[in-house]
Amino acid sequence: MLLQHSFRRKIFIYFIAVFILFTAAILVFQLNREKRYKTAQLENTLENVSEMTHNFIAFYNLAQTGNFQKADTLKQLIPQKNIRITIVDKKGTVLYDSSVKDYSRMENHLQRPEIQRALFAKSGSNIRHSETTNQEYYFYAHNYGDYFVRTAALYDINLKHFLEAEHLFLIVIIIIFLAVGLVVNFVTKRLSLTITKLKDFAIRAARNEPIENENDLPDNELGEIGKQIIEIYNKLRVANNDVAVEKERLFNHMNILNEGISFYRSNRERMLTNSHFIQYVSILSGTSSITPDNIFDLPDFKKLNKFLEKQLHKDTEFRNNELPQIEYTINKNEQYFKILCIVFADKSFEILITDITQPEKRRLLKQQLTSNIAHELKTPLASIRGYIETLMNNPAVSEEKKKYFIERAFAQTERLQLLLNDISLINNIEDAGELFEIKPVNVKRIVADVIENLENRLLAKNIKFTLNIDEDVVVNGNDSLLASVFQNLIENSVNYAGENIKIEIKNYLEDKNYWYFSYSDNGIGIPEEHLPRIFERFYRVDLGRNRETGGTGLGLSIVKNAIQLHKGKITARNRAEGGVEFLFTLAK
Ligand code: ADP
Repeated sequence: MLLQHSFRRKIFIYFIAVFILFTAAILVFQLNREKRYKTAQLENTLENVSEMTHNFIAFYNLAQTGNFQKADTLKQLIPQKNIRITIVDKKGTVLYDSSVKDYSRMENHLQRPEIQRALFAKSGSNIRHSETTNQEYYFYAHNYGDYFVRTAALYDINLKHFLEAEHLFLIVIIIIFLAVGLVVNFVTKRLSLTITKLKDFAIRAARNEPIENENDLPDNELGEIGKQIIEIYNKLRVANNDVAVEKERLFNHMNILNEGISFYRSNRERMLTNSHFIQYVSILSGTSSITPDNIFDLPDFKKLNKFLEKQLHKDTEFRNNELPQIEYTINKNEQYFKILCIVFADKSFEILITDITQPEKRRLLKQQLTSNIAHELKTPLASIRGYIETLMNNPAVSEEKKKYFIERAFAQTERLQLLLNDISLINNIEDAGELFEIKPVNVKRIVADVIENLENRLLAKNIKFTLNIDEDVVVNGNDSLLASVFQNLIENSVNYAGENIKIEIKNYLEDKNYWYFSYSDNGIGIPEEHLPRIFERFYRVDLGRNRETGGTGLGLSIVKNAIQLHKGKITARNRAEGGVEFLFTLAK
């Protein structure tokens, strides 16, 4: 609104100023013309009067007689009234004056400007103020040789009279002024309307608001410019919206990804980053203060930084249209990350961080397992081979010795079979857990069966057994797996804990989801430093002794996996009073 007003006011002020200047110029010009015209007219009249006076003087021979008083009659002959006639001789003495009675006493007139001029140019004029009448007079003198005839008339051409006389002219000027004013008003109104519209448009555009196509813009250049701008703006808005939608889609897609991904411009300015990327960067840097913008300073990204320095150099060109990329793995506190960076043709680039901890760990584990299995199989295989070789190379050996070697070899094949059974069991639990048949299992009955099967061995070592499991402890699970849990635990006690010991199995707690069990013996226990690793595959506390006692090192690993399959957990600790205690849960 303010803009519109100041704009229109300015145009008005300019218009009025120009108009006033113009009018004043015309008036001054007109006044001058009028003055010149009236003066010429007056001079003409006065010249006529001078001629008449001169003729009169000549006719009545006044110059010879000196009777100039007679000139008074002249006045009646002259049509114009109020014209003063003075006759002055060559020396400037006033011979007659029509408006002064006692003209003989008048001062010398030779120095009067009009007389002076007439002396040289035959006639002269001068406009002068009269003290007596307080009015302007036009004096005109004509030189007739022997005397001057000077005539004077009231000179009343002034601005006031002129303006009074030019009524019509002023009215016309005022009418023109009003008419032009109206036109200017109309034009500025249309102009400021357009400007106001454009201004409103600019404000709305700055606020990023939608703008309909304006049809009420005026039909002039300004309106046309306005329409074009609005059209361009609307196209831009549509394009921007499309981009925003695509960006949103891309962003959603990026956030679904398991990888951390971030896009950068060639100047390393970050464009888009998903939440995984930010999360991984904080893990890698060990602080949350590192943002995806300054990852290049991180030690783990040194390699990437070097690669980028080379690739982003403007002279570096791509060979065979292949996008340059770098890929490497970082290991951070037991977590593995794959870093992949791809540079695009425009030197923008993306960085991908993938958490490969699980697959990497599994890979390492499998690798370890394979070498462990090979190692474990080698020992019994080597001894079987040893016995057979001995038998083959020594045919003369006694029957008794032969029987001994064959029995040893057979025992080793049994051990091999045990080992392979354990390995396949553990593999089955891990890779095909869903194949085990699941049904309600009464735990007390399972444990009782296992104890019955091991009765002879328990008796041989004089092991006492306390079973405190309630009748109603039922879990949804696989009976043979659950049996192997208890079988392995009891066998371990038999094998490692020593003789004359006591074993106790009890359920000591339950909650909405779990049964809580405790298995304990009062044997030799497990040295503290080995405790954290006893559930690992092939881990044995005392290698030499265990080999002899026939353990595979897989027993507790099977226990742990079987319990995990039943959604439970197991921990081991040494009891203060001696022996180990395994605490575990089984889902109801
Ligand atoms: P294995 O199948 O060879 O018995 P495990 O994984 O079952 O192997 O056990 C790992 C190690 O833990 C054994 O070598 C043994 O030294 C120790 N251990 C397990 N249970 C007991 C126990 N009740 N008392 C003492 N040591 C035990």
